[in-house]
Amino acid sequence: MAAPWEDVLRDETAVQEAARVAVDAALLAGVLMRTEGEPNASDVVNYAPFTLLPSAVPSALFEQAYAVQQDFNLLVDAISQNKEFLERTLASTIKVDDFTARLFRIYMQVLEEGLAQSVFLGINRSDYMFDCGVDGTPALKQIEINTIAASFGGLTSRTVAVHGQVLKVLGKSKEASRLLPNNPSKGLALGIVKAWELYGSPSAVVMFLVEEVQRNIFDQRCVENELWNRNIRVIRRRFRDVFEKGSLDDARRLYMDGQEVAVVYYREGYVPKNYDQQNWEARLLLERSRAVKCPDIATQLAGTKKVQQELSQPGTLEKLLPGRAEAVARIRATFAGLYSLDVGEEGDKIAAMAITDPDRFVLKPQREGGGNNLYGEELRQVLEKIRDSPERTSYILMDKIKPQPAMNYLLRAHSPLQVSECISELGIFGVYVRQGKEMVMNEATGHLLRTKAIEHADGGVAAGVAVLDTPYLV
Ligand code: ADP
Ligand code: MG
Repeated sequence: MAAPWEDVLRDETAVQEAARVAVDAALLAGVLMRTEGEPNASDVVNYAPFTLLPSAVPSALFEQAYAVQQDFNLLVDAISQNKEFLERTLASTIKVDDFTARLFRIYMQVLEEGLAQSVFLGINRSDYMFDCGVDGTPALKQIEINTIAASFGGLTSRTVAVHGQVLKVLGKSKEASRLLPNNPSKGLALGIVKAWELYGSPSAVVMFLVEEVQRNIFDQRCVENELWNRNIRVIRRRFRDVFEKGSLDDARRLYMDGQEVAVVYYREGYVPKNYDQQNWEARLLLERSRAVKCPDIATQLAGTKKVQQELSQPGTLEKLLPGRAEAVARIRATFAGLYSLDVGEEGDKIAAMAITDPDRFVLKPQREGGGNNLYGEELRQVLEKIRDSPERTSYILMDKIKPQPAMNYLLRAHSPLQVSECISELGIFGVYVRQGKEMVMNEATGHLLRTKAIEHADGGVAAGVAVLDTPYLV
């Protein structure tokens, strides 16, 4: 799976020169992030971390990942409409995990009142690694699917030009011309546009629900600008603003500062620290509204790790996607081993297996955003402590994916230039829109490659571990 630049990696002078070009190209292209010191101002910005060189990705696996995306869109949408499935699957989790329980309570409350929302917009990103089998053949294995606040669809559209220029500087023009164009943010915006149109109120706005700390604003602006270009007004608000100024009318239309909101696009709300009591109330207000939530709370729950684990049980996919045997087969082919730690004999066996052989597995709580999973010795210690307690059901267990590492340079502001042994994670963006029972849009809309040094078991770009990359198909 080696990319054709092993020669370049050894030429230190060429690498240093290319890195200088790369950083300036990234700044010019808009591969930007606000700084840790000033996360809410754009006076000082820096480049978002990225690899010096594109990473090799097997083209067959790349195509496989694209080919299964519409299936995953259908699956997530089906789960979000299946109360019985969500209730049963999350029953053990919500007993011990307070965050999932609170989301679930809102979900039930909204259903009891009756949904005011009739147009549904899903934006997700299905993430994969290339698992290296015993014979060395790589296989596409899903890490997780993100159904809320899936990010970097904007910045990643700008890395192609940067990597193209780096390759040219290094005398690899032919390879530069082979890099694929990629613009997820445009596709995501088109989904928002479709939902906004179907909502049917031309003066209504799209509201980006954003975090208190907004370092990744430029990624969001990429989507936002696509909407302004189509004459759709966008406002950016936090939960706090919704709590203070949001309201519903008799038809449960949502208003912010007197403006009707057609679509709420969450780039926030996926981790416990996003919520205090007021923010939970704001979330409930939004969910009760007629506005198109991206995602609605059911779709957020469909993206939990517990649901992912349940999907791998025999017969589950068939029940969720009846009459779609081919889609089921495509989806299942991407699953790694996933195991329930629910109370009972089966869970006892799984826990014992993981404690005996911790390096084979990853232990995952119901959390998003990176840095939460447990590996190796830490996995063993934690599981040993909770093996006889119901607390263990707040986790799922997963086979550890072992990709073939490759050498690359990770460019990060204020960090020395040094070569690292790296592995990559490929994400495919999906977007779909449903009106009532009818799917009116279902697409794969671009990709994201993130690469990290192998010494980090966990973590994404926002967590400061992985960096943006561009796939070079081999
Ligand atoms: P999060 O919701 O926090 O992003 P993930 O399931 O994506 O949770 O895990 C975070 C990171 O941990 C991934 O980006 C990947 O680097 C690593 N990881 C997760 N699952 C596995 C696995 N089964 N094998 C190897 N690495 C994994
Ligand atoms: Mg992840």
